[in-house]
This record gives sequence, structure tokens and C-alpha cells, in this order.
Amino acid sequence: MTVHTGRHFLQIPGPTNVPDRVLRAMDMPTLDHRGPEFAELGLHVIAAMQRVFRTKQPVIIYPSSGTGAWEAAIVNTLSSGDKVLMAETGQFATLWRGLAEKFKLDIDFVPGDWRHGADLAEIEKRLAADKSHAIKAVMIVHNETSTGCVTHPQDVRKIMDRVKHPALLMVDTVSGLGSLEYEHDAWGIDVSVAGSQKGLMLPPGLGFNAVSDKALAASKTNSSFRSYWDWEEIIAANKLGSWPYTPATNLLYALKEGVAMLEEEGLDNVFARHKRHGAAARAAVKAWGLETVSIESHDHSPALTAVLMPEGHDADKFRKVVLENFDMSLGTGLNKWKGKIFRIGHIGHFNDLMLMGTLAGVEMGLELAKVPHRAGGVMAAMDVLTGKSVVPMTKAAVA
Ligand SMILES: *Cc1c(COP(=O)(O)O)cnc(C)c1O
Repeated sequence: MTVHTGRHFLQIPGPTNVPDRVLRAMDMPTLDHRGPEFAELGLHVIAAMQRVFRTKQPVIIYPSSGTGAWEAAIVNTLSSGDKVLMAETGQFATLWRGLAEKFKLDIDFVPGDWRHGADLAEIEKRLAADKSHAIKAVMIVHNETSTGCVTHPQDVRKIMDRVKHPALLMVDTVSGLGSLEYEHDAWGIDVSVAGSQKGLMLPPGLGFNAVSDKALAASKTNSSFRSYWDWEEIIAANKLGSWPYTPATNLLYALKEGVAMLEEEGLDNVFARHKRHGAAARAAVKAWGLETVSIESHDHSPALTAVLMPEGHDADKFRKVVLENFDMSLGTGLNKWKGKIFRIGHIGHFNDLMLMGTLAGVEMGLELAKVPHRAGGVMAAMDVLTGKSVVPMTKAAVA
């Protein structure tokens, strides 16, 4: 039996800590999803999610994980044999590619080393070379949760405009939305894919698509079989605040509360808070004499920090020491990073002292697991948070 003598520290980069307010908001009797009270909730959360995606376009909310929202993006707009351009940024890009393969898309996968955002120069080269516009979609992962590297969707949009390529731009922002700046309309995104359990601070169970007019037009002419994921029926039902099938009613109460919390803080302040915590976490890693997976400052994720273990030390053994001694879960290394890295989530419902507790747990864990490091990481992070170190990162400075 696991005994918790206080809060468990859930510092994996998703699912993230669910605020008590959100848990309480879900604690409601189930209601008639075809009745008037539900319709009010339905219309409310759709409008709320349009504000979070910063879009005037339809947002589809599925009772699904993020993976379902990936599948929805594909089956609504693409058919087998369609050519798509994807970029290998890490495990989530690799999984999305695997899903696309099952739908027999013809995938051009731009290689990557799992330590950077997408290779933009290579994307530009391949799009420019595609004179016949065979590529139907460019699909990228915004915040690559397996590496802590960001691909900025607006960078990709600029490239597509520069080479005048008409492909759809699809973005997985499952762990970006609600923690990193995101502009579905202003950045010209055609399909945004998201999930409930990362920056939105909800339990797992909701998937999202935000869809442009161009994506909707593509879905109208797309002959791929689909039913559960079909945008058209859902958008039609959503006009009256309902769904063609039973929605995840209690998670929608949670969504209403989660977005209310994001908006009380102000989305821009939410993004600044994540950036500040990312800077403090990286300062700690540097002081320990360890290396972050992400190398370029343009790529550093504000939502999580992935840390390389020194040669000969197993990251999962270290994570086990931290869990057993301090009741803290750190993210494991995925796929080719298995055993080689650990990930510190600083995403969602989070504040300065939670970060300090997290970093103290890591520093004590490094000591107990006899991982070679220097002391002083926690101190370095405090200096960032108080503005004592060079980067002025106090709350006032960021605001
Ligand atoms: C979590 C995550 C997913 C997958 O979401 P599930 O809810 O586990 O299906 C996809 N992409 C990214 C970037 C993620 O962080």
C-alpha cells in the first residue's frame, strides 16, 4: 500500500495536477445531455475553448484522449495515398506518424535528433521542391513532450506562405495549449489538436480539434470513411449546444472551471508563468552540471525540462529513488531516450514553491542515487525567481 503523508508531487508533463476547484466543479449529478441545462453548458465550453485556441472557428470537443483528436484530424481531411510532410521531433511526432501510416498516408518524415524542434530549413526545402503541390498537409508537434523542445507553428506558417504552398497546416498542441502562446487564427493553423490533461489542468478524457474554413472545405470533399470523428455532424449539433452522442458531461463542468481559472489569471500571464518556471528549472540543471535535452534557446519548452543523465547512470533508477524517498513522480524517458533522460513537468496548475519543492526533490534524489552533480541547483533557481540572477525573471519583470 502506498502511503501519502501530504500531497503527492505529480511532476510528469501530463497528466498534470488538477486544481481542487476543478475537482469540485466535476462533483455534480449527471444531467440530461439533451436537456436545456446541458445545452447552456455545451455552448459555454465551446465558446470558452474558442477563446483559448484564439479562434472564431468551430472547436470540436471529443470524449477521447489526445490520440483520438490526432485521428480525427486525419480522417476528416485526408485519404489513403495522400502525401503529408511530418517532422521527427521525438516520441509524439513518431506516434502521430505511426497513426498516419495506419491510414496509409504517404509520409515524408523530416529526420531529427530528438534534441531540437522541427528542422525548418528542411521543411522549407521539401515544400519548395513540391511544385505540383502533392503534399496535402504539413503536420507538426508544437510542444514535443518527450524532449522539451518547441516547434513554433508561426515559423512553419511563415515558410508555407513564403513558398506559397497550399497544404493544410496541422499542429499537435496537446501539451502546448494553455501553457504556451497559441493563436489558431492569427497563425493560420488549419487543424489544431489538443487534449484536456496537460495545460488545461483537467483529468484525461477530452480531445479537441480547432478547424479552419480551409480544413472544413477539405473535409467536405474528403471521401475517407469516418463516423465517430466526423466534424460535420458534431458541428451541426453543437449549434444548439448538444452532441450527436453522449458527451463527457462531468468533464465539461471541469473544462468550464479550468478555462475560468486560466482567464482569471489571464492567458498572457499563464504563458509568462510557464516561461519563468522553465528558465528557473534550466538554471538548476546548469548549476548541477547536467545538460538539458533541448539545446537551442529558441527551442526550450516553458512546460517541461528534460534532463540528460551522466553516462553510466540509469534515469529510471534515479526516478525510483525520488519516488520512494519523496513521493514525487518525474517523467520517464520515452523510446530512444528510455533510461537516458528524466523529465520535470512544470506545466498547468503550478507555482513558485511547487517548483522549488520539485527541484529540491531532484537535487536530494541526485545525492541519494549517487549521480555525479554539483550542489546549488535549487539556489540557482531561487535566484532566477527572485530576479537576483542576470535573467530578470521576477513576476513583476515578466508581467
Ligand atoms: C500527451 C500528448 C499526446 C497524446 O495524448 P493522449 O491523451 O495520451 O492520447 C500527444 N501529443 C503530445 C505532444 C502530448 O504531450
